[in-house]
Amino acid sequence: MNHVTSISDITTKASPADIRGYNWPSLLWLASMHIGAVASFFYVSKANLVAEIIMYFITGCLGITLGYHRIMAHRALGVPKWLERFFATCGALAMEGGPVKWCAQHRMHHSNPDTENDPHNSQNGFFYCHVGWALKFRPFFDSPDKLRRFSRDISQDSYYLWLDTTMGQFLPQLALASVLFAIGGVGMVLWGVCLRMVLVYHATWCVNSATHFFGYRNYDIGDQSRNTWWVALISFGEGWHNNHHAHQNVVEAGHKWWEIDLTMSVVRVLNVLGLVTRMNSIRDIKIANHIEHRPITPRAS
Ligand SMILES: [Zn+2]
Ligand SMILES: [Zn+2]
Repeated sequence: MNHVTSISDITTKASPADIRGYNWPSLLWLASMHIGAVASFFYVSKANLVAEIIMYFITGCLGITLGYHRIMAHRALGVPKWLERFFATCGALAMEGGPVKWCAQHRMHHSNPDTENDPHNSQNGFFYCHVGWALKFRPFFDSPDKLRRFSRDISQDSYYLWLDTTMGQFLPQLALASVLFAIGGVGMVLWGVCLRMVLVYHATWCVNSATHFFGYRNYDIGDQSRNTWWVALISFGEGWHNNHHAHQNVVEAGHKWWEIDLTMSVVRVLNVLGLVTRMNSIRDIKIANHIEHRPITPRAS
């Protein structure tokens, strides 16, 4: 499925004029979460660690990797609408923006990776594509019209539009923080919100940065994407990024038996429970192309 609605979206060049200084709300938010993450080490306990791990899985795996990325941005698999909305809510709890903006900018990345039209262009250096891009106002990538054009299918849903608003970002987080505070006080909020959020941020950002710099390629597809094992571990399979760039709309990120993709374990459980309505599998593509035993696009030597 082609989610890009206009060829001009691909060919129009971004220019330095499109970057209008620092995005101070974003910068202050990220700085305060990092300070909260450091403060969490004054509240070390088993209960706080468990809260952090559970929320890391819920927001990082169910929310960002499975919900935002594979289900919504790429439509690699389908689930019932109520479950898709649940996963979208988990994604919103990661505070990486609502699903309309997140998926639109991710689709921009795939439309023209490692170029001026890529929201986190790796040609601008490691720091820029890791976090620098999120610290600037960039009308070229952030205009509401453009975001809705790239996420037209997602912006049909009023709940998803709400998750993109300031209230939609903060209210679910506030509700979660209140529950954690009731259970474990300030320490559990610092571990389950601040530390967890910072770790999920860096895991997601590593998919934009490290996997465009370090690792190997299974497919020679003309961009900088690479497979990076340690990013795959911290991001629930997303580190097999060269595989993903080569086959964006399939559900599996790992294409070799040893490329462990933890999100696929979740998908298999959902499938057993009858909660997967359709799935694009790499196996179907390989069988359709009669190339079960070699990469679809062999790497040039
Ligand atoms: Zn990429
Ligand atoms: Zn993707």
